[in-house]
Amino acid sequence: MKIIVLKFGGTSVGTTDRIKKVAKIIAKYKKKYNVIVLSSAMSGVTNNLINLSKKISKNFSDSEYDVLVSSGEQMSCALISGELINKGFNSRSWMSWQIPINTEGKYKFSRINKINKSKIVSYLKKGGIPIITGFQGINNKNRITTIGRGGTDASAIMFAKFFNAEKCIIYTDVDGVYSTDPNKLKSAQKIKVISYEEMLEMASLGAKVMQPHSIQDARLNRVDIEVKSSFTDNKGTLITKRKNIINNKIITGITNTTSDAKVSLLGVRDKPGIAASIFKPLSENSINVDMVVQNISANGNETDLTFTIKSDDLSKTKKIVLQNKKIKFRDLIFDKNVSKVSIIGVGMVTTPGVTYRMFQSLAKQKINIQVISTSEIKISVLIDKKNVKKAISSLHKEFKLNK
Ligand code: ADP
Ligand code: ASP
Ligand code: MG
Repeated sequence: MKIIVLKFGGTSVGTTDRIKKVAKIIAKYKKKYNVIVLSSAMSGVTNNLINLSKKISKNFSDSEYDVLVSSGEQMSCALISGELINKGFNSRSWMSWQIPINTEGKYKFSRINKINKSKIVSYLKKGGIPIITGFQGINNKNRITTIGRGGTDASAIMFAKFFNAEKCIIYTDVDGVYSTDPNKLKSAQKIKVISYEEMLEMASLGAKVMQPHSIQDARLNRVDIEVKSSFTDNKGTLITKRKNIINNKIITGITNTTSDAKVSLLGVRDKPGIAASIFKPLSENSINVDMVVQNISANGNETDLTFTIKSDDLSKTKKIVLQNKKIKFRDLIFDKNVSKVSIIGVGMVTTPGVTYRMFQSLAKQKINIQVISTSEIKISVLIDKKNVKKAISSLHKEFKLNK
């Protein structure tokens, strides 16, 4: 029998009633497939656990953080299994260490590098339905790790890879990937098929529906993904390789971020090596600098340098910049009220004038662009947070995504 991997997100297992619905979905697939289930924690549980760690300390130990926050998945898996057993199925929960799912890298941000198949294979052979904790693994020190927020998406994709599954279905609370967040813009349209490349950009630039690393894993391993709702039976979105897609849209999706912050250094000495002196200690402290803009110096001596970081890194960045003896500047300004709005689409590679249309559309709404960054298939602008809704809705119209 062929293998199918089903992943259920937090809202899909958010209540015991929802868990009963999930068990029905699993039972339906069991008629045709060997089913492997990956579950997230019930919605809100992981956030609560994180808040508990913050109440103990701002610098809570990373390894204990992983033990703590991964515990939500144990609860939901036991509840799903329990319901399946109630319904007469052969099912059990599996914690990552019982399989084991091996990870590498730092606590909080590990990556799955191997899934030991033997125990699950023999369990499947006996007709069992394994309900496996997403988001967690163990490292080579035999300690529990987690793989980043929203990580159950990546757990599911890695299971699909290692078990050579016929399908990987991500069940969530929307019935597919939309042109923009359907909970924020009513006219958002469901995308039938999207390439890994576009989905990766969308996910990295704020479309929470899929975790970015999971799309990287899917692309590397050529795992097709279907995104569907556990609330309705509607056809979802297929995420697959570009070759499988015929698309006549220039732009596929629009996203925005909610956790960026802008840092400006005013009156920096304009001489070679100064940008490197600013960014070196930031990178040594694992602070990811995203967009960068440097103004042309008016007098040849001084310039202003602006960059963006994650707002969680703001206080660390402030400390590092102020302690940096290699740089001199007149003023240091921070702004948390910014958001990066991006348009994404492989169509822009072959279509001239996309940048102009984006800027023109924002100008008509009197929205000021603070920083710009581009890649082959995306254009991002940093704007004031209060203008995000207006910006997305006007860009959505401009690029004819309403229909
Ligand atoms: P889960 O708990 O199932 O993993 P998430 O909350 O992580 O679900 O992701 C689903 C949410 O992603 C949706 O409720 C929706 O608000 C949000 N979202 C953001 N951008 C998009 C998009 N382009 N298409 C669909 N959903 C999106
Ligand atoms: N429960 C984890 C989180 O909230 C993992 C997941 O939902 O995929 O981030
Ligand atoms: Mg998610």
